[in-house]
Amino acid sequence: MQLKMSYLITLILLNLLNSCDSVIKQTPKTKDLDLLINQAPKSKLLFGIPVDSSRVIEGKIKRNQTLSAILQRFGVSDAKIHAIAQASKNIFDLRKLDVGKKYSIVQKMNANKTVNYFIFEPDLESFVIFSLGDSVYTRVHQKKIELIEKSIATTIHSSLYETIIDIGAPPVLVSKLVDVLAWQVDFFRIQEGDKLKIIYEEESIEGKPIGVKQIIGVYFKHFDKIFYGIRYSVDQIEDYFDEDGNSLRKTFLRAPLNYRRISSRYSGRRYHPIQKRYKPHLGTDYAASVGTPIHSVGEGIVVEAKYGRYNGNYVKIKHNSTYSTQYLHMQKIKRGIRPGVKVEQGQTIGFVGSTGLATGPHLCFRFWKNNKQVDALKVDLPPSDPINSKSLNDFLHEKNRIMKKLEYLSFKTP
Ligand SMILES: [Zn+2]
Repeated sequence: MQLKMSYLITLILLNLLNSCDSVIKQTPKTKDLDLLINQAPKSKLLFGIPVDSSRVIEGKIKRNQTLSAILQRFGVSDAKIHAIAQASKNIFDLRKLDVGKKYSIVQKMNANKTVNYFIFEPDLESFVIFSLGDSVYTRVHQKKIELIEKSIATTIHSSLYETIIDIGAPPVLVSKLVDVLAWQVDFFRIQEGDKLKIIYEEESIEGKPIGVKQIIGVYFKHFDKIFYGIRYSVDQIEDYFDEDGNSLRKTFLRAPLNYRRISSRYSGRRYHPIQKRYKPHLGTDYAASVGTPIHSVGEGIVVEAKYGRYNGNYVKIKHNSTYSTQYLHMQKIKRGIRPGVKVEQGQTIGFVGSTGLATGPHLCFRFWKNNKQVDALKVDLPPSDPINSKSLNDFLHEKNRIMKKLEYLSFKTP
């Protein structure tokens, strides 16, 4: 609680700092040219710390440089160094002062040149304050992440990934987009000329982009079909819906793994490469590298998880009274996956291998509907629940807002 309060206060102080002019930088006055000395003007805050009548020295951790070595250079006593090492226990591992990372020292402009604070920045998102004044403590703080709405509108000219890179958008947008439309679009079959618009939230710290939080809205034109994905939260759970409020999520994933290619489709008659005779293949074979994680396509209960002479290591999952799925030839079954265990959609249940009767590493995926084996690639998958009537008006309002924004985005050709 106290930590949370101090974090909030720091956020407020940081905001105040950000609204002021930046600290005036002067040429270094010490012999070390790698240290930058800043004369802080009055009422200045740095990392939420008042730095009035102080000077701020910035540096970067050198190879094998320890906190005590740095502090000793600035005249901090051994007793104080020992105290801060004690205070850092279980809060920040002092061995993690990585080479090249930035630090700041706040030094009083008094006769003793007392060092009051040492501030270390381990990454873009956080900073650690080592207080060396009257109260000695160590605290890790998170910097404020700002969300900025961004958008792209482009025509696919090569792969989706290359197109995103070419227009200078963050590559992570590709996987975010695939997550939103995975049940509508087969992203392995993307066409040149497909059109794409995305509105998304970029995360940034102190003006530097650090990532993408979420997609807000998507327009995707694949062949002549247009797909929309609208972000909306129901009961505080964010999900994506089409323009009519239908969930974009199906009860089952399209594929149980990230595969290289489909090496054999479901068929009533195929020539078996090992048994050298024609027999039905009542599954879909996905070629993938050994060890590729295999996910349950839907939530359900494990009914079988064992080794069989032909199936190798395999898992069978019952999703409900209508649907079951089975995953064969695993290198190994994931630990904890055994009959009676509940699994979630997307949960890893095993890893691709070639155990049992298999020519090479692949997953043979089988799908049952009403106790009859069916083609997983052709079966009409049931959708998840649509927006309920209670939220529908609110959703339609939000949808119109996002769709209007999407409409106004004009396409740029990279
Ligand atoms: Zn198979």
